[in-house]
Amino acid sequence: GRILAGDDVIRGTNDDAAVSRLAAVNLGYLTDPHASLFVRRPQKRPPVINRGTYTRARALDDLIQRFLSSGDGDPRTKQIVSLGAGSDTRYFLLKQAGKQPGRYFEIDFPEITGKKAQTICKNPALAQTIGAYTLACGGIELHGADYHLIAGDLRNFATDISQKLHDAGFQPDAPTLFLSECVLVYLAPSTSEQILRAAAAMVRSGVYVVYEQIHPDDKFGQTMLQNLRMRGIELPGLTRWPDLDAQRRRFKECGWGDRCDAVDLNHYWDTVPVEEKERIAGLEIFDEIEEWMLLSAHYCVAWGAKDGVKNA
Ligand code: SAM
Repeated sequence: GRILAGDDVIRGTNDDAAVSRLAAVNLGYLTDPHASLFVRRPQKRPPVINRGTYTRARALDDLIQRFLSSGDGDPRTKQIVSLGAGSDTRYFLLKQAGKQPGRYFEIDFPEITGKKAQTICKNPALAQTIGAYTLACGGIELHGADYHLIAGDLRNFATDISQKLHDAGFQPDAPTLFLSECVLVYLAPSTSEQILRAAAAMVRSGVYVVYEQIHPDDKFGQTMLQNLRMRGIELPGLTRWPDLDAQRRRFKECGWGDRCDAVDLNHYWDTVPVEEKERIAGLEIFDEIEEWMLLSAHYCVAWGAKDGVKNA
């Protein structure tokens, strides 16, 4: 294949996420009629990966749902900012379910947002969900009434990106959920701290939700890191936030400490209702219980809240 370097490799992780998501959708783990629009060559994934993709999506959807129904209970008074959104389809799914926030912002590298903007323009189901929109910056940005696709480098969050958010109608007074799903771990620790602090400074109240790898040091973690390294991918974030305690501490230190917590996917899986677990168990043969528990111990959902947002 093509030789990728630096940021290209990081951008490539979005294709991976999209392929895994489609694999899980095709087997019935998740429902997402748009997942296939972001994948050129579908691939199957092993059962543990499918279950992981499902649990990750469900854990984050749960937190987002709780945020959207918190406070006055009205999603429209709130906003969501997804940093490193990639091919995420949540905005479209939420809006089609009538549960979208008043504003939804997605940020990624221009190479990614440009492709996403094109996909949206070519697909009536996506375009009509947004309603009237305009393309900007030569097609790498897209702005609708409640949806904004913004191009930029998260390493310049505090300067460029926060300005672009304000230009696009970001509301400092609206309860805001920031989401980084498998994103911060690729950045230098000082950079993600800057992002968290800058995000906290942008809002009166809100919650910051992170999903990423943990536990680099045990055998499974070492193998996970080695496999990534072979593809040229490093996870610098793991050096500073290797476990659940460190993840909680990060929120306390970076302006999101009014309430914060971190759980791994094993813990989250335990909270999935038994009927749903049975449905999942019926989707494909699943013998890899031990591997599943190991994998799940290596991914965490962590969040920190700043004032005012209840039940997040
Ligand atoms: N959040 C999406 C999901 O979970 O499906 C995509 C996750 S993908 C693993 C990581 C995403 O973060 C990629 O789309 C990548 O381009 C983006 N990203 C990483 N570093 C970035 C940076 N410095 N600026 C903008 N985007 C970045």
